[in-house]
Amino acid sequence: MKKHNFSAGPCILPKSVMQKASEAVLDFDNGLSLLEISHRSKPFVDVMEKARSLVLELLGLEGKGYKALFLQGGASSQFLMVALNLLEKRAGYLNTGTWSAKAIKEAKIYDDIYEVGTSEAAGFNYIPKGYDIPEDYDYFHCTSNNTIFGTQMKSFPDCPIPMVCDMSSDIFSRTLDFSKFDLIYAGAQKNMGPAGTTLVVVKEDILGKVSRKIPSMMDYKVHISKGSMFNTPPVFPVYVSMLNLEWLKNLGGIKAIAEENDKKARLIYSEIDLNPLFKGYAVKEDRSQMNATFTLENENLKDTFEAMLKEAGINGLNGHRSVGGYRASMYNALSLDSVKALVEVMSELESKA
Ligand code: PLP
Repeated sequence: MKKHNFSAGPCILPKSVMQKASEAVLDFDNGLSLLEISHRSKPFVDVMEKARSLVLELLGLEGKGYKALFLQGGASSQFLMVALNLLEKRAGYLNTGTWSAKAIKEAKIYDDIYEVGTSEAAGFNYIPKGYDIPEDYDYFHCTSNNTIFGTQMKSFPDCPIPMVCDMSSDIFSRTLDFSKFDLIYAGAQKNMGPAGTTLVVVKEDILGKVSRKIPSMMDYKVHISKGSMFNTPPVFPVYVSMLNLEWLKNLGGIKAIAEENDKKARLIYSEIDLNPLFKGYAVKEDRSQMNATFTLENENLKDTFEAMLKEAGINGLNGHRSVGGYRASMYNALSLDSVKALVEVMSELESKA
């Protein structure tokens, strides 16, 4: 039976990418596994270089002063690495949920942080708007997609200072003017590749401006100077990310996947709005195209609904433990057919109720 994987991660990838990845584990270079060849050998250095250049190409950032890095430590390490590299006196953070709050907590270790806006009082079900970003701050930090609560920034401010964005859960999913951002980071494991590598795209000219000493592993400039190979890179996640970025390029790039993602989101949200059994969590204008969060209004139908989901091969729909309800994560590799299968179950439940 076909499985429909709505899980929030880690690692939702097209089957063709999984297939090539598994072949490389067995034989990547003349009978040797990708996992056993030297990361300094030409075949792997070529992989790293290709992955880095595909990132800039797909984001439309080639020749614009940006460098792409594949680091380790997850997006969570970027919470502190951003502050170490950029925070001198004060930074402004937009607090749109759990991940923004964690980024704020880590940055506070190093210096003063000002929350330019927050939707905490409303359970993070919307994106604050109309906030000011002081011109004399070091940088502004935001989270483009709130994976847990299911909200997404539809527009970004014209920022008078460097703009840093955590795009962990919607990178490569929609067309944006990525040159508005000075630093983008994303854990691989939603729209790029297996957990274990973190993408950082940074405009070089914002670096080198803080007075503190930065440990080498935490210093973007060190990683740039070593071609993202300062220490042993996570070879498998980088290789699979490269395969997935190639898949995306062959599909027509971000523009093509964005159209698919648009269709998927319209389908699920129209069912949530039309079906009286379900209620969306996020306010309509800020709804995430990647993570649709909703609740079943009648708790008595929970077991029936979940049995029907299982029967239809639908997996991973449970909401995050901090929110409850349901969350349909619709990353790039999830097909429109999978969303159709979910919507069918939801409307069938209505006809049974
Ligand atoms: N930021 C966002 C928006 C996320 O969704 C997540 C994880 O889901 C993280 C950060 C943390 O990423 P990691 O587990 O790679 O540290």
